[in-house]
Amino acid sequence: MGSRNVRHALAIAALVLGIHGAQATPGAVDEARIIGADGEPGNWLAHGRTYGEQRFSPLDGINADTIGKLGLAWYADLGTRRGLEATPIVVDGVIYTTGDWSRVYAIDAATGKTLWTYDPKVPRAWGVNACCDVVNRGAAVWKGRVYVGTIDGRLVALDAATGQLAWETLTIDPSKPYSITGAPRIVKDKVIIGNGGAEYGVRGYVSAYDANTGQMVWRFWTVPGDPSRGYESPDMEMAAKTWNPAGEWWNKGGGGGTVWDSMAYDPDLNLLYVGVGNGAPWNRWERSKADGDNLFLSSIVALDPDTGRHVWHYQTTPSETFDYTATQHMILADITLGGQLRKVIMQAPKNGFFYVLDRATGQFISAENYVHVTWATHVDPATGRPVESDPNQYRDEKKLIFPAPFGGHNWQPMSYSPLTGLVYIPAQDLPFTYAQEKGFEYGRHPWNMAVDMAAAMPPPGQDPALTRNVMRAIAKGHIGAWDPVAQKEVWRVQHDGPWNGGMLSTAGNLLFQGNAKGELVAYRADNGQRLWSAPTQSGIVAPPVSYAVDGEQYVAVMVGWGGALGLAGGIAPREGDQVGGRLLAFKLGGSAQLPPAPPPPVLPQPPAQTASADTIGKGDALYHAYCSVCHGLNAESPTLADLRYMQPGTHALFDKIVLDGLYKDLGMVGWSKYLSADDANAIHAYLIERAHQTQREQAGGWWLAVKNWAYGVLAKLVAWFIQVTA
Ligand code: CA
Repeated sequence: MGSRNVRHALAIAALVLGIHGAQATPGAVDEARIIGADGEPGNWLAHGRTYGEQRFSPLDGINADTIGKLGLAWYADLGTRRGLEATPIVVDGVIYTTGDWSRVYAIDAATGKTLWTYDPKVPRAWGVNACCDVVNRGAAVWKGRVYVGTIDGRLVALDAATGQLAWETLTIDPSKPYSITGAPRIVKDKVIIGNGGAEYGVRGYVSAYDANTGQMVWRFWTVPGDPSRGYESPDMEMAAKTWNPAGEWWNKGGGGGTVWDSMAYDPDLNLLYVGVGNGAPWNRWERSKADGDNLFLSSIVALDPDTGRHVWHYQTTPSETFDYTATQHMILADITLGGQLRKVIMQAPKNGFFYVLDRATGQFISAENYVHVTWATHVDPATGRPVESDPNQYRDEKKLIFPAPFGGHNWQPMSYSPLTGLVYIPAQDLPFTYAQEKGFEYGRHPWNMAVDMAAAMPPPGQDPALTRNVMRAIAKGHIGAWDPVAQKEVWRVQHDGPWNGGMLSTAGNLLFQGNAKGELVAYRADNGQRLWSAPTQSGIVAPPVSYAVDGEQYVAVMVGWGGALGLAGGIAPREGDQVGGRLLAFKLGGSAQLPPAPPPPVLPQPPAQTASADTIGKGDALYHAYCSVCHGLNAESPTLADLRYMQPGTHALFDKIVLDGLYKDLGMVGWSKYLSADDANAIHAYLIERAHQTQREQAGGWWLAVKNWAYGVLAKLVAWFIQVTA
């Protein structure tokens, strides 16, 4: 045999044996590689890059000196207008990421070429169970497989080389409105996954599945079930002592506490940390007679990853009643406090306080507010408990409270730079008018919060231009550069509006963030100076990542505005020009160009308005009770169908769509269970009115300009008044 034949034979033998020489098996990630991630900074092997989820890249080729040369290397069109929230995982030159409806993509990290895609074919009607858009925050990669949770509650395992399904398992009771948007984490060959649904009314849990077989290994319930049926574990028996059975939460939606996003893992301590969500219903007087802390709502819970048993917990908002989840990003770091190196866990949950805890014991170390907070005056340093400013809160009358249910910080990940010692918080400042829902009954509306959402909506008939101005004046966002030792903000970058992207810091003294306006921006990580930006044509909510292929550093980010505030809107960052979602990758000297953005859509001539002012007003109220969380405040939507732009054919089918579910396979289910034909008619009349109003606005004129100016001034006064009085 000649040497060529020997090489050939060896290559065949290697293939048979699964050895690919220098070419690693696709997706060959394991615990040792993730623990040793700093030794291979060109990869982004896990959701937060490391198990500690710091989202800091040790790469420094792109830095404060070279950033001027950063340009687009490539882009991949993902064919959607919905929100994109995923953190791409990068393993040995391949990006694994996810899009809307839980679709999975494998993409060449150097060229942007799609290697394979996988569509779990989520029945579109299930979208009604997704409170906050049909988003997905990413995949996990482990030993040659790619794992992703689907909106309809499945956990799927795919072959990393081909995208072929290896196994899938249903993680939920399909008779209940659960959904999965969070990224799985993988610890000791167990795939850890939770779910969402607390606004609809479900009982929260997090589960571990065998990565090989898909068999469930353990499940940790986050709130107790019906006490008459006993407890699944001593952990639940302990939790049940903090609930008042007179609240009958198990009959009113299950108590909530969903584990819909954040996790972290410390392999030395052998602790898995999970962030637990809000109560179901939100209203604590309804849920538990406002009696007891209601564990483990709004808590950080440390679990034994081998058994799923509780080790310690810290509750950020005892007796939660504001949708103040503790599902926000958690960061593990070792920092010097009082001259002592401490293993800490840090979180900026929705409730507005930044927490530093001892992650071995759960001991409270410190907490200070990182945004304007009115529900509590402070966290008592002796007890670690918040001191509520008024124990009655909104029990007796409606009340404007900071932060809103959107949170001082939502799911958008933070970043911790060990070089600057700062945590970068994608923070937001907006209040919410809370009020109890009188005569609450479970099941009268898909959302079961026992909170009167109408109190938070503009009064029916209010000029949408005024609402828009007030929203833009009140709702703000910023990057808070937070010193976790001193517990204070060192500097901030002010944004025009809320709901901007997650953070990435790098060893190049850079901080990257995409924003709602549609640009990716780089700042100096030490002082926040803006150094560079690139237009992205659509708003960004996802966090950037950095990786390297053949020694060349890239920064990549998913572009596609959406998610909770993106849908509910009222503050659409851009009018009518949300282009298709994409993955963008930048490198030094990159010279690729995005195609020109399409022109904004043209408003079709709306039908003549034949309804009375009363009917339009009724439709306004019904629209904002049933439709606006997805189709936007005042029917202004940058992501889903903007109903002002309905075509004549759509108007003709309106009742069939709204009542009979004609478009259920597109994600729009029928609402005849909740709305009568008269109701649908009134909503239709309101939407026709909104189209006519928009037509007049687009025609412009001096009178409109004067009105908008006056609204702008009024809105600033309202915003100022709220800030000083709330
Ligand atoms: Ca919630």
